[in-house]
Amino acid sequence: MRLLVVEDDRDLNRQLVSALSEAGYAVDTAFDGEEGHFLGDTEPYDAVILDLGLPQMDGLSVLEQWRRDERNMPVLILTARDRWSDKVAGMDAGADDYVAKPFHMEEILARVRALLRRSAGHAKNEIEVGPLRLDAGSSRVTLDGSPIKLTAHEYRLLAYLMHHRGRVVSRTELIEHLYDQDFDRDSNTIEVFVGRLRKKIPAELIETVRGLGYCLGSRVDEA
Ligand code: CA
Repeated sequence: MRLLVVEDDRDLNRQLVSALSEAGYAVDTAFDGEEGHFLGDTEPYDAVILDLGLPQMDGLSVLEQWRRDERNMPVLILTARDRWSDKVAGMDAGADDYVAKPFHMEEILARVRALLRRSAGHAKNEIEVGPLRLDAGSSRVTLDGSPIKLTAHEYRLLAYLMHHRGRVVSRTELIEHLYDQDFDRDSNTIEVFVGRLRKKIPAELIETVRGLGYCLGSRVDEA
């Protein structure tokens, strides 16, 4: 899952990026409204964390513009405490959730998880596909109840496929949603990671759909 953080406070921006990266997300970052608007307009993010008070272009205008242009990714806004009117304006402009500053990082992580699972159509943090179970809360995957060891990239790939179980996901989509913008995007890397995953989980769980991409769990009955 790939996220965008738009926050002009450099310390806070860094803390958000580091906590979100540690939780297994690919994270892009912007420090003003214009840059943030541009990235959100051109890159396919799974969710965005958007501060409202930003230089160049304020967060509310950024959000309104995205929604006018039918950019529908989930957006979590950061508001000043006690500014209830900001929260109302933000939600009305198309925000999906808000967190008031100052906040605990755990709250941001929990709200991001909730946004991501809701936008993928899941009500719970745990997703099961056959013998596989993903716990997005702890970023862990188990196979028949035993934890499997995954690298950060393998986890991202498997988590994305599990969130979108039963659907064919193209290599391009995977590249766009698994890597931040600075990553060297070579579509062969996806094949390498899929190959590695197939050695760690029952290989038939990830089906190659010729010319289209990959599909996880299409042959597993809904749990
Ligand atoms: Ca700010």
